[in-house]
Amino acid sequence: MTIPQRLADGFRRFRKNVYPVQKPLFDALKDGQSPRTLVIACADSRVDPAAIFSASPGELFVLRNVANLVPPFEDDGSFHGTSAGLEFAVTGLQVQDIVILGHGQCGGVSASLASAEDRPVGRFIHPWVELMAPARAEVLADPSLAPEERQQQLEFAAIRHSLGNLQSFPFIREALEAGRLDLHGAWFSIAEGVLLWLDERSGRFEPVGEDMAAPR
Ligand SMILES: [Zn+2]
Repeated sequence: MTIPQRLADGFRRFRKNVYPVQKPLFDALKDGQSPRTLVIACADSRVDPAAIFSASPGELFVLRNVANLVPPFEDDGSFHGTSAGLEFAVTGLQVQDIVILGHGQCGGVSASLASAEDRPVGRFIHPWVELMAPARAEVLADPSLAPEERQQQLEFAAIRHSLGNLQSFPFIREALEAGRLDLHGAWFSIAEGVLLWLDERSGRFEPVGEDMAAPR
């Protein structure tokens, strides 16, 4: 068994510098987790929800996939990894918030745009990113958008589309109707370190300022 040097060094640093400091936290977590938030993020290595939200172990339940997509509810006995995570977070952990966290320069979104130009990417990527096809159709049909604006607009539209798909899950609808769950959309700019939050009233993504957090 060989462990890549970078990972071995990283783990040693964790054990030496981080774990001793967080030992009380890990002790408190050893019997179970009760995160309040589910984050659905892209697998992109540059978009780490724990780093962006300064979260400690136990705070965020995180699902990551290509392009932070949520499939619609499908009860077909197939391999639905994202749906399984959603089910556990909502019915098992009873999270209070679900955040779909998109980001700039998303390769999955680029792949979807490439599919629209008859250049499908990969064997598994293409059908997966076709989940955002309805969002892509909206973006491509907007004559006010220049081609270079389509990528970011599709990053936004895919988040909105996934928020809609979340509501196709019966256990999510039930939690929403009971008032014990909120759904959110967010987008992180890798280039600028800026976080935009989807304002449900305006339907627009607005920068997160210091005054934006709602008291809970
Ligand atoms: Zn991405």
